[in-house]
Amino acid sequence: MRSVIGITCSLTVTNIEGTVHFLERNQIACDYARVIEHIGGTPLLLPHVEDSGCIDHYLGLLDGLILSGGGDIDPLLFGQEPHQKIGNVDRVRDEMELQLTRKALDQNLPILATCRGMQVLSVAAGGTIYQDIASELPPPTLCHMQKGPGWYASHTIDILQGSRLKQIVGGTSTRVNSFHHQAVDEVGDGFVATAHSKDGVIEAIENPTHKFALGVACHPELMWERHPDALNLFKAFVKTCG
Ligand code: MN
Repeated sequence: MRSVIGITCSLTVTNIEGTVHFLERNQIACDYARVIEHIGGTPLLLPHVEDSGCIDHYLGLLDGLILSGGGDIDPLLFGQEPHQKIGNVDRVRDEMELQLTRKALDQNLPILATCRGMQVLSVAAGGTIYQDIASELPPPTLCHMQKGPGWYASHTIDILQGSRLKQIVGGTSTRVNSFHHQAVDEVGDGFVATAHSKDGVIEAIENPTHKFALGVACHPELMWERHPDALNLFKAFVKTCG
């Protein structure tokens, strides 16, 4: 039986050429669905909804949840005013994902969170984030917004002994891609930081008492075809969903 893995989406708004009308699309990179299909799960995209009945229904259909990458979380949701360098904010997505995540944590539903998703996971548990690494963390910080292709692992992360990530990766360090200008600051309740880059930025968090609640700052969905550690992360996640 294939596990059903829900994948959250972004909202993109484009102008219909030659008109004053806008087209709103819920969409997400195909890579998430491809890797889940590849390892024997069934991917299911979750459009944005505001009705909590829909969110409960989503959860009833799912064996696991992927919180995908995307824009910035509204800082008001973790008690801060917007920093100068804040990027695109989508309040509907934020509220849906926070509600989905809090309920999934309560229900012990496996969660894998990537990039923005890790920040959502931490904020859902009461954490905070740095709204802009370059201006809020003590210098020198590394390049966390790489120019190379998505599969390219541009920086090292050191992984905590005894963590689930260490079990999955095997070693105490690996290399990851990096496409984030924000980072987890205070880790949410019940979570621990289980990987850091060499400049001290949190690159992974997990909740050791949960069935599987793990977030990474990188985009493993862009790396799995070339990097076994990224593939093994998805395999470990889907295995706990069965
Ligand atoms: Mn990084």
